This record gives sequence, structure tokens and C-alpha cells, in this order.
Amino acid sequence: MRVPMTAGNWKMNTTIREATDLVSEMRPLLDQIENIDKVICPPFISLAAVKELIRGSSIKLGAQNVYFEEEGAYTGEISPLMLADLCEFIIIGHSERRQYFNETGELVNKKILAVLRAGLKPILCIGERLEENEAGKTEEILAEQLRLSLAGVDYPRSLIIAYEPVWAIGTGKAANSKQTNETIGFIRCKIAKLYSDEIAQNMRILYGGSINADNIAEFVQQPEIDGALVGGASLKATEFVSIVKQTSQIKGR
Ligand code: PEP
Repeated sequence: MRVPMTAGNWKMNTTIREATDLVSEMRPLLDQIENIDKVICPPFISLAAVKELIRGSSIKLGAQNVYFEEEGAYTGEISPLMLADLCEFIIIGHSERRQYFNETGELVNKKILAVLRAGLKPILCIGERLEENEAGKTEEILAEQLRLSLAGVDYPRSLIIAYEPVWAIGTGKAANSKQTNETIGFIRCKIAKLYSDEIAQNMRILYGGSINADNIAEFVQQPEIDGALVGGASLKATEFVSIVKQTSQIKGR
């Protein structure tokens, strides 16, 4: 049985004050929802304050990025060791980082290896661009992203995958839920081939791309989809709570 998950990617939004206000609003509501992992990923600068605010709660904390070295002359970067004191999850390879910060598959792989070494749980984002989707290359692209990202990873027990078609992120155009179920089934088969059936069956694979309180149910009703990575809608307390609640109700059945 895979524990469902909703993860909120706040991206480059919220000052420390806004982040703590948002968490204070969400905390009592999220704490009432059971049988699901609820993860919030605020910007780096708010992690420490948010960690204090969620002490004793069931909310878990994640970061949005990391560098792969442990320490040293890498001005402006944050290492997995620094994050290990603060959070449990780290989003790696988000398409915005691939697009705006030129992150390659090789860099994503170094980050995954470093995060696993530090005992943290990576949320690996993979997904095809619109032109790749239209050219029927989705599976080929995903297989290649998995191959590159997981090179040298022997046993990805704590890994979570987020399938995020690039054309669905922040566009208001979510993917088709049945098609997404098939694509996530394909990803699970690839994981089984790379590792084992047991690892594939236990791995949580999320969907991300324009999820909101109105469309989450149709996605999590699909058997392969274990939850969602949510961007824009994770910045609105009541909407995020509704997404978490619907996921827990549907997947808990
Ligand atoms: C994301 O940033 O991972 C994401 C899925 O964004 P949105 O929900 O806004 O499309």
C-alpha cells in the first residue's frame, strides 16, 4: 500500500512573514486530515521559521532545490547537509530549473545522489515539453530522463517521482487524467525494469500540472496516481487543504 501524498511547491513566492501566515492558516486544517503525507515546500529563507511553526504537527517540510556538494566555495548555493537539519524532502529537476537555470540530466543525477547520501527524500520531477508530446515522444523522453536521473542509484527506496508535463505547469491546462494514469503506469514499468517489481509497486508517483480543488478528484481516482505536486494552488490555504482532503478521502477508500 502506497501512502498518498500532496506536496505544495510554493516556488519563488512568499516573504518570511507571508510564509508563516500561510502555514498558521493551514496547520489546524491539515492536521485534521489523516492517511496522507502533506508536504509543503516554501522558499529556503522560510524553512527555519516554518519548521518551528509545524513542530508537533503532521505537516512535513521540503525544499525546492539543492546543490550536490556538501560544502565549499559555491557562493549562493545550499547543500544537502544544510537541509538535513531542516526538512525531509527536496524537489529535484523541476522543469523551471531545467528551463531557466539550464539544469541538465547529469546535474539532476548528481543532486539525486547527493540527496540520497544525506538521507533526504528526493521528489524527482520529469516531464515532456509540448512539442515532444505532440510528436508522440512522451515515453521516449520520460525513459531517457529516468535513465539519466537515476544513473548510479542502486536502491531508490525513498525516491518519489512527480510526472509533470511541462505544458501543463502553471498554464491552467491540466493533462487528461486517464492518459496521465497510463503515462504513470509506463513510468512504474520502467522503474520495475531498472530495479524490481517490489520497488516499483512501493514507489509513489505523483502528477503535477495545474491541479486545483476542482480537478484533483479525477486524477487521484486513477489507480496509478498517488497524489499531486501542486504549484499555484498550494499558495491558497483553503484550496490546498481541499486538495489534500479529497486525495485522502479517495485514496483512503
Ligand atoms: C509545479 O510547480 O510543480 C506545478 C505543478 O505548478 P502548477 O500547479 O501551478 O501548475
